[in-house]
Amino acid sequence: MSYPQTVIAKFGGTSVADYDAMNRSADVVLADENVRVVVLSASAGITNLLVALASGLEATERFVKLDAIRKIQYDIVERLANPQIIREEVERLLENITTLAEAASLATSTALTDELVSHGELMSTLLFVEILRERKIDAQWFDIRKIMRTNDRFGRAEPDVATLAELANQQLQPRLAQSLVITQGFIGSEAKGRTTTLGRGGSDYTAALLGEALHASRVDIWTDVPGIYTTDPRVVPAAKRIDKIAFEEAAEMATFGAKVLHPATLMPAVRSDIPVFVGSSKDPKAGGTLVCNKTENPPLFRALALRRKQTLVTLNSLSMLHSHGFLAEVFNILAQHNVSVDLITTSEVSIALTLDTTGSTSNSDSPLTTSLLTELSSLCRVEVEENLALIAIIGNKLSQACGVGKEVFGVLDPFNIRMICYGASSYNLCFLVPGDDAEKVVQKLHHNLFE
Ligand code: ASP
Ligand code: MG
Repeated sequence: MSYPQTVIAKFGGTSVADYDAMNRSADVVLADENVRVVVLSASAGITNLLVALASGLEATERFVKLDAIRKIQYDIVERLANPQIIREEVERLLENITTLAEAASLATSTALTDELVSHGELMSTLLFVEILRERKIDAQWFDIRKIMRTNDRFGRAEPDVATLAELANQQLQPRLAQSLVITQGFIGSEAKGRTTTLGRGGSDYTAALLGEALHASRVDIWTDVPGIYTTDPRVVPAAKRIDKIAFEEAAEMATFGAKVLHPATLMPAVRSDIPVFVGSSKDPKAGGTLVCNKTENPPLFRALALRRKQTLVTLNSLSMLHSHGFLAEVFNILAQHNVSVDLITTSEVSIALTLDTTGSTSNSDSPLTTSLLTELSSLCRVEVEENLALIAIIGNKLSQACGVGKEVFGVLDPFNIRMICYGASSYNLCFLVPGDDAEKVVQKLHHNLFE
């Protein structure tokens, strides 16, 4: 039996942070009978603690982190009417964590990291099932690793969409007729059965992938902000909520640093045309943002995104003059190091580029390794500038409109614009500024373009 109206509801870390948050999220689930699958993140703070443990800590530090994890989870367990039902199970997971953290203190590995961090989602889902059962709701715990097949790039694994669809059809679809299914975001398993993760913040992606695999009618992402804003309201209090936004615009926003959605989330949603709703589990009545295929009268300027900690790499080579194949060589080296390029500009003898540093679970986050630098240096002169911020203006038909440059840069004369990318996409215009100026630039631009 298939449900044409299946809705996947995903709750982020703050929505399952404690007993009260979990109950509010349960209210949200129960308010919509079409919600058949619930995808959860780890309780807020847990993944960071687990990542720290995976980096290999000495005993004292380790016990501090383990205690912090135990406290967050037991604060929930102890408020259940019948805590004894799952105490044993929670204890077993905590013991696993202890053993794995000890192993990490002897030798770290990306596979071990993923095994360790997966326990955050395993625990939150276990607790949430119990919260629902206390409310007499029939709910079943489902281990997503049975169906979320990925490659073995630990820390940032890529899903095998075809296998997921097949396995979801066999193993998950039939369960939807029985009861509500509660499962984990973020985690998966590779062909040999070892646990993998989809990268930090990956639970959104899980929800969208399941939406696609189950032909859902909508994916709901419940977080702690009621939707997507014209920019981060913490930076600009006058930021406005966007009620409806097109996939392409939202994808650009996520890619360029708007924290509301994981950047890959929208790929499955776009592929299978499933609308994605973003709202706050703290205040579901406040409404939210619907990300969908078509919006009416899309505005020229839609939003501003800010991404910090950008590194600009400038490659300079006289042999590039009147030659060919230099770019190919550079990209070849980057590809061999699994590094993807974000922004790029070129001149006759130089290339400037920024590297994609978004969310891997691994502890060493900079893609700019010594071996990469050495290899690039054998080809050309390499300069590295750190602590820049990338500001992205998201909009529609930006590259076809007149006066965009003036409107954007006209108000930015006091600032050093380090690099500009414009023209490749009609949905964005990006530039780099010194990190310390970033907030002022965003405030000024927002005032000019949106207020
Ligand atoms: N718990 C994971 C993280 O913090 C995944 C998620 O929350 O989406 O990155
Ligand atoms: Mg999250």
